[in-house]
Amino acid sequence: MRGLAFHGNSVAEVIDYPDVSPRAEQVLIKLRSSGLCGSDFSRYRAKGPNEHGGQLIRPGHEPCGEIVALGPNVKGLKVGSRIIQHHYEGCRECEFCLTGWQQLCEVVDKKEYYGGSMHGGHGDYMVVHQSTCVALPDELDFEVGAYLACGATTAFQALKKLNISGRDVLAVFGQGPVGLAATMFGAEMGARIIAVDISPERLTMAADSGAWATVDASDNNSTDQIKDLTHGKGAD
Ligand SMILES: [Zn+2]
Ligand SMILES: [Zn+2]
Repeated sequence: MRGLAFHGNSVAEVIDYPDVSPRAEQVLIKLRSSGLCGSDFSRYRAKGPNEHGGQLIRPGHEPCGEIVALGPNVKGLKVGSRIIQHHYEGCRECEFCLTGWQQLCEVVDKKEYYGGSMHGGHGDYMVVHQSTCVALPDELDFEVGAYLACGATTAFQALKKLNISGRDVLAVFGQGPVGLAATMFGAEMGARIIAVDISPERLTMAADSGAWATVDASDNNSTDQIKDLTHGKGAD
């Protein structure tokens, strides 16, 4: 099957990877979309290839697709299920793993990272543990699912922790994929969003995504502009 390889020094190539089949509690996913994250670029631009334990690892940690085969011990998933894959796999026994936070697994030597320590989503297929699969609702397409696999949900979780509401003015610095998601979700949660960036194109996208105001920070005076917008008070 085809998959992307990062050879180092900004060299990428589509190569053949061995076909895979799911074992035990794994499922085989046919990838339908795979997001390119900012952190992919550090692997792409690294001095050496994207390897783990001496093995070339296929990048991609924002996978979304359909289950096409099940390992013999899989429960609760079926062939044809549309899923987002969460790219961390922990011990599945510690407090963090059992409450859905496999990325915080305390058993470090058991923690895997799809796209870093195990093959990721930039390919035709991948095998993943069943515990990393999140159902993709029918009304969301695969591209949206890939965005939710990492970038957008990172912003969502931050806003949930901040308990954002209509009482708040929230300044979001940087309107890349994560910041833009914070603008979208924050506006939906009722907050007035001040979107800050140095790119006019990104500020236009922020305005289209629900920002209450936009601030061009290229003159290094974003604090003054935010104070002007909030009667001197600043953002919450
Ligand atoms: Zn990501
Ligand atoms: Zn764990």
